[in-house]
Amino acid sequence: MKNDKFAINISHSEPGPGDAGQTGSWRVERPVLDAAKCIPAKTGKESCFLCWMYCPDGVISRTIPPGFDFQYCKGCGICAEECPADAITMVRETESGDETTGC
Ligand code: SF4
Ligand code: SF4
Repeated sequence: MKNDKFAINISHSEPGPGDAGQTGSWRVERPVLDAAKCIPAKTGKESCFLCWMYCPDGVISRTIPPGFDFQYCKGCGICAEECPADAITMVRETESGDETTGC
């Protein structure tokens, strides 16, 4: 029997650009995903997504595989720390080979 007295209300933030605006120009490191290790990428199933959940700026997409919005990722490394499969490595911008950061 349903008991509304004990209904649980939770808050959930939708991913979006960070409050600091576009951070890609000053980021020192960026996350790089190894899809061979990423759980949803390996299994093809929507699972894990701890990176998406913990990213403080909401710039990781809940997709298979997860994607990063590098215009707003600030390079904090939390996603890499929280990934249970060690699928994310933080790489210095100068070594990433990506010319889109403005660094
Ligand atoms: S936390 Fe790691 S394994 Fe999980 S979805 Fe993100 S990258 Fe993939
Ligand atoms: S490094 Fe990871 S956790 Fe930090 S802002 Fe970028 S995507 Fe989000």
